[in-house]
Amino acid sequence: MRIDYKDSVEEAGQIARSAIPFAAKLGLPINPYIYTLCYQHTAKTNDKLSNALIALLASSPTPTKSEVEELYHQFVVDDDSKAVQMLKTAVDNVMSKAQVALLDAQNSSTVYEQQLGTAGAQLDDSGDQTEIIEAIVKNLIAETTQMSNVSTELREKLTAAQTEIAHMHEEFTRVRQESLTDPLTGLKNRRAFDDAFKTLSEQALELNTPMSLLVIDIDHFKRVNDTHGHIVGDAVLKCIGNQIKNVVRGNDVSARFGGEEFVLLLPDTPLVGAERVAENIRESIAKQTLRHGDHKIGQVTVSVGYACFNYEETIEDLFERTDAALYEAKIGGRNQVCGASD
Ligand code: GH3
Ligand code: MG
Ligand code: MG
Repeated sequence: MRIDYKDSVEEAGQIARSAIPFAAKLGLPINPYIYTLCYQHTAKTNDKLSNALIALLASSPTPTKSEVEELYHQFVVDDDSKAVQMLKTAVDNVMSKAQVALLDAQNSSTVYEQQLGTAGAQLDDSGDQTEIIEAIVKNLIAETTQMSNVSTELREKLTAAQTEIAHMHEEFTRVRQESLTDPLTGLKNRRAFDDAFKTLSEQALELNTPMSLLVIDIDHFKRVNDTHGHIVGDAVLKCIGNQIKNVVRGNDVSARFGGEEFVLLLPDTPLVGAERVAENIRESIAKQTLRHGDHKIGQVTVSVGYACFNYEETIEDLFERTDAALYEAKIGGRNQVCGASD
């Protein structure tokens, strides 16, 4: 997605006069990401972003920098298209350089061919005059050396182009990987999860195998932040993320879905299997006493909703059922797991 602003100086100034106080109220450094979000929100040009921002502020009036910046990646700029653009520019560059080099080489070989033609004609006319033949041979040697220099140069240019492409490819892979990863926990992010869901649900349908979804939400996480601060809150998220990573096997897909909510997709797993995994995660988290350096955090618990994918439903339907089960677990007293009805 390209950000294309058409506001005049006056309009942009007008928006900035509301956007800056709005950004200042968030209590976060007004860096370009945060300014862009507040600008688009104030200008009312990005509904999805505004809805997500309003929802975030409703659940977390003093959001963290990473929570807000995550919205930038979700709703403002598409890192993938940035990476593709970068790679395309690099390839265009390399291709035009290679084209110039090839053209040079082609010109030189045309000249060389002409020289050979002239030499051939001179030889035909030369009878047995040794001096003339010697001159022709010398000339040909000089031309051959020249040609050989050109082709060495061409080879060097092509090697440089190859190195450049390899470098850009690495960069592309890194940016793409980053755009699919949650920076705090290193788990997949929502977008990567959506891709995995698509692949695995198609596979389940094709092979007629069950697939289950778990939604794991930290209990009273707001209290953790309020009592111990956001830095400790972030450390708790990392720790829970690691515990979820530890139970993931084979083709299971885990992701941080945003905030203090994690999801786990279990291919080839019916509802009873999902219950076992959910209970295993709940128990292993509940029995730990968390610390952050010397600071004791204590027990942190999670509630888990789980459901088995029904082939006719959409991802939204499945999430709706799993969220309803999670809600049951929350109102049932938290630190418990609850399965969805079909
Ligand atoms: P419940 O048991 O009902 O789930 O209560 P809760 O407090 O966990 O849920 P609530 O939705 O009220 O609050 C979620 C909190 O999670 C508020 C928000 O500040 C915090 N949070 C979300 N993302 C992050 C983050 O990246 N870092 C930190 N430190 N906190 C976060
Ligand atoms: Mg919670
Ligand atoms: Mg939550």
